[in-house]
Amino acid sequence: MNNAVLDLIEKLEKQRSLTLDEYEYLIENRSEEAYEVLRKKAEAVRKKIYSNEVYIRGLIEISNICKNDCYYCGIRAGNRKCERYRLTDEQIFSCCEQGYKLGFRTFVMQGGEDAWFTDERLCKIIGRIKALYPDCAVTLSLGERSKESYKKLFEAGADRYLLRHETADKEHYQKLHPQNMSFENRLECLKNLKEIGYQVGCGFMVDSPYQTNRTIAKDLKFIEEFQPDMCGIGPFVPHKESVFANHPQGTVELTCHLLSIIRLIKPNILLPSTTALGTIDPDGREKGILSGANVVMPNLSPEETRDKYELYNNKLTTGAEAALQRNALMGKTEKIGYKIVTAKGDIKK
Ligand code: SAH
Repeated sequence: MNNAVLDLIEKLEKQRSLTLDEYEYLIENRSEEAYEVLRKKAEAVRKKIYSNEVYIRGLIEISNICKNDCYYCGIRAGNRKCERYRLTDEQIFSCCEQGYKLGFRTFVMQGGEDAWFTDERLCKIIGRIKALYPDCAVTLSLGERSKESYKKLFEAGADRYLLRHETADKEHYQKLHPQNMSFENRLECLKNLKEIGYQVGCGFMVDSPYQTNRTIAKDLKFIEEFQPDMCGIGPFVPHKESVFANHPQGTVELTCHLLSIIRLIKPNILLPSTTALGTIDPDGREKGILSGANVVMPNLSPEETRDKYELYNNKLTTGAEAALQRNALMGKTEKIGYKIVTAKGDIKK
């Protein structure tokens, strides 16, 4: 490994910050050796703050109806072959009930941008979940909404919001999205969510089409400056009915490398080892944890809709609803020296 890379890793560890050029250099010159150095440092800081605990979040995919046409996404509006669904309130509560019994203390409601879910409807659902499970966190991942809307949902009890910035480079953003979607609005939403008081998550896909080492450097700089509470990164995986059907899927190697870097940028960040990582490699989730991730988000969606929320092809659809599945996940996690815990899992300040 070249000395400049080692120096940069040490600088990052000490200062939690690099210049844009330095981030780019670090990614450009990555190697197995450099990864191992980064990984060990990432594991060490993570263990100092979160010990060997892994938080679990129950993911409830409430709707695959979406008004947007993001070029990478399998549930984009333009995909006529996608069979659409929307969960009823009762279905959502039933997912929470099952999840609670299995030890989940965070419920993540994710979906396409589906206008049926008005503020009024969502506030009622959030209020009910919080009333039934006051010891749980409610996380939303429902895309771009107005500041007033985010405020109402927060006042109804939502604690956290995940909105990946997708890329911190405007030109790259425009290559991933149609013209009617705006980079500025995405960033404005993230700023608003933070101002309101949510624990906020940003994030991006690894090896997305037209991504370069420079755009990744910008993503890292953005994370460093925005200081999100959470950051979701996972490999891009093509979907055959999307505009990017023929683009290659991302790698475990780069994803894990970036997980370690992000852990060093913000030692206390809540960093999921994503489903996409588990999809491209049967041991992907464990590799993510070993690279500094401290969260996993198993699926709690009802069995009958689960395979319809297909953001990308071959997405893992094994749920956590069966106690058996959860035991398998726990077993695999324990094997690498970590343990899944029943906890709300807020960020440690
Ligand atoms: N509508 C919500 C939720 C989007 S789905 C929102 O706008 O935030 C959650 C995330 O899945 C997206 O932010 C995107 O980064 C990721 N995703 C979508 N398509 C993908 C693909 N083909 N491969 C990997 N990740 C994908």
